[in-house]
Amino acid sequence: MEILHSFSELQLARNQFKGRLGLVPTMGALHEGHLSLIAQIRPKVDAVMATIFVNPTQFGPNEDFNKYPRQEKADLEKLEPLVNYVYLPKVVDIYSTGFNSHIHIGDVSEGLDGDFRPGHFDGVATVVNILFNQTRPQAAIFGEKDWQQLMVIKKLVADFSIPVEILSAPTLREADGLAMSSRNAYLTEQERKLAPLLYKYMKEYGLGAKEKLDAAGFSTQYVEQRWGRLLAAAYLGKTRLIDNIEIS
Ligand code: AMP
Repeated sequence: MEILHSFSELQLARNQFKGRLGLVPTMGALHEGHLSLIAQIRPKVDAVMATIFVNPTQFGPNEDFNKYPRQEKADLEKLEPLVNYVYLPKVVDIYSTGFNSHIHIGDVSEGLDGDFRPGHFDGVATVVNILFNQTRPQAAIFGEKDWQQLMVIKKLVADFSIPVEILSAPTLREADGLAMSSRNAYLTEQERKLAPLLYKYMKEYGLGAKEKLDAAGFSTQYVEQRWGRLLAAAYLGKTRLIDNIEIS
């Protein structure tokens, strides 16, 4: 595994590699869900590159950018047997001096998380576009856990004719049904016991899950239907959880 610490190191490595490159963008604090993305893109490409970048522009002013879990050493140990390259850019490698642009993907960015996290999907679309331009992958993979994000990225690629094949991977869950997420580390012991109710109630009660979740101690932002899915976001204490399931 080659570790690329800057855009210039990335460019040297990228210019030497001639095969099909598969990209796995992450914010680190890697769990089995992230590793499953690598396993699923692996057979489709000649080399896999993971990126770890906690992107400041996709966090709101009162969100968890500063306390987002950072565990580079453990992440590199997990990636070592699985990827060919890992790109660890600093903020200056992604946002050049005086950077003052953003991409807004209409419609799919609006509603749901777009309403509760203003500017979030502009930050996501912008950083993914920069990562695509810097790494020039033939394919990239994203998790269905972040369904609205997946819709934003598919539309980004379609609207701007970006020559990257977008793959998606199903949500990996803990044994009790909780969707794996780096943010699960924020949960207290008691909250962790309640957290699987999000998925359970979505399956059992559909749109009626909101009322049940609030009664169980969640502070639910939305439970809505879109894209043939049921999507939800809810706070449990200070931790914001999201999930989505196919409507059967
Ligand atoms: P993040 O590091 O949270 O930005 O996630 C990086 C990628 O991993 C995104 O494409 C996520 O959708 C995906 N991902 C996160 N959690 C899961 C999960 N539980 N199962 C599958 N993919 C996931």
